[in-house]
Amino acid sequence: MIVIVAATSRISGAQAPSGPQVNVPPAASAATAARYESDPYEFAAADSVTHVIRLSRIADGVRFTWPRAVTPWDTALLAVRSWGAKQSPWVEVSVGEFRIQQYLDSNAVGVRWLNLGGLREQLAAGAEVIIRTHAVTLEAEAATLRLFDNHLDLQQRILVIAPHPDDAEIAAFGLYADRQASVVTVTAGNAGDMNYRASVSDPAEHYSLKGYLRAVDSVTIPWQGNIPPERTANLGYFDGRLDAMYLAPKQTIPEVYGANTDVAPYRRANLSKLVSSAARSNTWQHLVEDLVQVLRKVNPGIVVMPDPRLDTHLDHEFTSVALDQALEQWQGNPIFLLYTNHTDSNHYPYGPAGSVVSLPPGEAHLSMQKIYSHPTAHALQIRKLFALESMHDLRLSPDEQTTCSSATIARRPDYPRMPEDDYFRRAPRANELFYVFNKTGVHAVIQDFLAHYNAAQGTRSAQQVH
Ligand SMILES: [Zn+2]
Repeated sequence: MIVIVAATSRISGAQAPSGPQVNVPPAASAATAARYESDPYEFAAADSVTHVIRLSRIADGVRFTWPRAVTPWDTALLAVRSWGAKQSPWVEVSVGEFRIQQYLDSNAVGVRWLNLGGLREQLAAGAEVIIRTHAVTLEAEAATLRLFDNHLDLQQRILVIAPHPDDAEIAAFGLYADRQASVVTVTAGNAGDMNYRASVSDPAEHYSLKGYLRAVDSVTIPWQGNIPPERTANLGYFDGRLDAMYLAPKQTIPEVYGANTDVAPYRRANLSKLVSSAARSNTWQHLVEDLVQVLRKVNPGIVVMPDPRLDTHLDHEFTSVALDQALEQWQGNPIFLLYTNHTDSNHYPYGPAGSVVSLPPGEAHLSMQKIYSHPTAHALQIRKLFALESMHDLRLSPDEQTTCSSATIARRPDYPRMPEDDYFRRAPRANELFYVFNKTGVHAVIQDFLAHYNAAQGTRSAQQVH
């Protein structure tokens, strides 16, 4: 199979070289020296195998030879160092006629991880790997190749946990489609922009409608991935409220835009028996109890949920905190695949739809066990795109569709969807990327997140005192 990403025509800002490109490293300034040396990722030594390879300079990039003796792997990452970059830097990695494209963050400096998984079939002993660079200069030096063998059995029961309607599809449609998966969404999605104001002007009524529509989306759209509504659920908790619920676990927290405290109006979207029939209000305690029931009923071998260290949306972070608390009341021992839908101000992953996703750059220290890059075939990317397009929040409102050709109508900030943060660009990709942990590891991830969160809360309280 030839892996070619036909994206060149959609590249904006990248410098296409005319003739041989001379990669003279720009001088690294003192201000960037720390960034140049740093790599936030620390991998547990026992969970992956490393090889030191030698990158040598060629006219338009660097090259290396695939090692002669490597152990079996499903995910391969190569740490390269960028001397400097311009807007929308990218690399093309090729073995013979097979190639993949990966984009980096603009002005990237320092260690970046290239994901080579798309060339798995071609990376045989002694294969010559060419890395052609565009708008970026890579160091020709010794580099670390890190190989992961996850032994993932995707025939097991998979539980995908989504904070909002659309998150399961953005992060894991390619992973969950056509499998023995259950998709459970924590909130109704009854917040965000008031984009149906032309139809419903009262805020409480508006968000009640929006939450119900999105709750229905969350339980029906997985059907496009062959997950029937019997295996989906929306727990109906309130969008934008999970951190407030965490901070006062027994207290009922109303909706953002109204006095309603009852999750039942949103739970009416459900067909499945995954949702508790007990009386429920919008409390942290009820959320954790519901997640315990979901874990018992689904009994998953794989749990998919956000990595709260990378995914900066508060509802995403506290969805995983709630799940971690629920784990204390369930004896199962699944593998955890963590994801992020909100990193680098929603600009990550970089580059056009169809290109490769790898680890985001970062400043904070991040402990990792394994990485799993799940390949997503082109036909599956198309199905994923249309599943996303079915989500009310990812497409224009009826009013916006009526007026979209008008130059004078005032538009919401993200209308029409900005390319920088558009999920139609960011989500249908050559692969889906997951941070893999066992039960002990995922608990450490949550504790690490909470330590940072509590420290920030302390700082905030102290500032309020002054
Ligand atoms: Zn979300």
